[in-house]
Amino acid sequence: MVKSINKLRPKFTTHADGSDAVLFINELVGETDGPTIGISGSIHGNENTGSQAILELYRKIKDLPLKGRILLLPVANPRSFAANHRHNPLDQLNLNREFPGDPRGTYTQQLADALASEFFAKIEYNLDLHSGTDRPTVDYVYMWNAPELSRAFRSKVLYQPVEGKVGTVYAGTSKTVSMDRHGTKVVTIELGGGIVDQTPYVERTVDGLINQLRLIGALEGDVKAPPAQVVLHELVGIRPKHGGFLEPLSPPNGEVIKGGQLLGRVVSPYDFEVIEEIPTPFENGIMVMQHLTRNLVEAGDYGFMVGNLDGAGK
Ligand SMILES: [Zn+2]
Repeated sequence: MVKSINKLRPKFTTHADGSDAVLFINELVGETDGPTIGISGSIHGNENTGSQAILELYRKIKDLPLKGRILLLPVANPRSFAANHRHNPLDQLNLNREFPGDPRGTYTQQLADALASEFFAKIEYNLDLHSGTDRPTVDYVYMWNAPELSRAFRSKVLYQPVEGKVGTVYAGTSKTVSMDRHGTKVVTIELGGGIVDQTPYVERTVDGLINQLRLIGALEGDVKAPPAQVVLHELVGIRPKHGGFLEPLSPPNGEVIKGGQLLGRVVSPYDFEVIEEIPTPFENGIMVMQHLTRNLVEAGDYGFMVGNLDGAGK
């Protein structure tokens, strides 16, 4: 069984309103020894599907036999989470570009430094949950240094980033601490988001995490085999050039989109004209992120992600 559940609340600074700035880490300690697994959500504050999934995961596993230790970090960036913003409202920085952080830096840099030492330095596995934010909906898994564990989340689409290729590997992400500095096995999960019910994505996330925890050996039970998967080496984001109503025309995530098809179009809410038609970039593409509803977008907002099936693996 779980031997103990501990609420770890390390303080890293003081807010101007007098409250303590703490990390919210929930430690589940098993009765037998095993690796430490860190599960994190809401590094980006407007991606709370992962926080919902960690809540449901906690409810499911807290009374199960556990081997090793799990650190749940459901809300990595509380001020951003509360404001539903990607960037931290105190200094307008993107936490996932500021690692390893700086204890004498700006608020977000101090937060990154505290997360690096109190969470990312203490885990052997990191399952990091992201989503498409509060408007687009996304569905893929990054395959970094743990291919089998990445596949075990059981998403159809995986993406193996190519080092040095523009737009695929960002500086200052949490993996610069976990993977690059400590050799942590990292899986970055991108699932859910959008102005739609998150329940199916939360349920899939919980199922995927449990399967991964079984593969690691932390939980008992059979590991389910992944479905047929595609491993992308090329994945591009496409932003609407213009603001307005973005009307989606793309097939669902995980489905093929052929050259010549439109991803969507931007329509003026003011005079009803079509301002822009957005074509798919590849002859042979697969949908990875899209808007599922007619959403108001600003010029250059997140729009779509499409993977190139030419050159992809299995
Ligand atoms: Zn994110």
